[in-house]
Amino acid sequence: MLDADFFRRWMTAAAAAVDREAERLTALDSAIGDADHGSNLQRGFAAVTAVLEKDAPQTPGAVLTLAGRQLISTVGGASGPLYGTLLRRTGKALGEAAEVDEEQFAVALRTGVDAVMALGGAAPGDKTMVDALVPAVDALGEGFGAARTAAEQGAEATVPLQARKGRASYLGERSIGHQDPGATSSALLIAALVEADD
Ligand code: ADP
Ligand code: MG
Ligand code: MG
Repeated sequence: MLDADFFRRWMTAAAAAVDREAERLTALDSAIGDADHGSNLQRGFAAVTAVLEKDAPQTPGAVLTLAGRQLISTVGGASGPLYGTLLRRTGKALGEAAEVDEEQFAVALRTGVDAVMALGGAAPGDKTMVDALVPAVDALGEGFGAARTAAEQGAEATVPLQARKGRASYLGERSIGHQDPGATSSALLIAALVEADD
């Protein structure tokens, strides 16, 4: 079973991964965006870990809704509202249970990913975070490790795509040949589930 501590560990591991990879995320965003993805997420996830320590939410749903709200209020770029919505809607779907099982989490995360697609209007293949998140939720039934592999493969598969959403879409064909920063950070977020589970 997954309790509030598990979801806290997930957010802490995600924050650490974003710190570790911030330069790479910003370098990817400098190729097809405005070179702020690493710093956007560093600021956002630092604020998430701080508020989780301060407010100590007691259920999985409360941890994720608080984390999501914090991302929305601290990250100005496109990724803030999108990741914030992902976590907030996933948390809302978990309800008020003190513990949830992997199956319930997979269903809730699907709700969150659907909300990201509704908010941003991106579908798989548009070269966005959706290209890592959708394969990850599809694979989540086989475990966190399988979801991590699927997300990493999804992120790598954005390289040959032309961006159809977000800032990178302004580049048209020149967006081809670069890995999408948001798909890359989504793979980090999903990989952090494996670390939280150790
Ligand atoms: P900004 O583009 O505002 O500077 P970031 O650099 O933090 O924001 O995030 C860029 C990432 O956000 C992209 O690489 C992409 O994955 C994701 N993104 C942008 N627009 C959308 C959208 N409409 N739907 C889904 N993801 C999006
Ligand atoms: Mg950017
Ligand atoms: Mg920006």
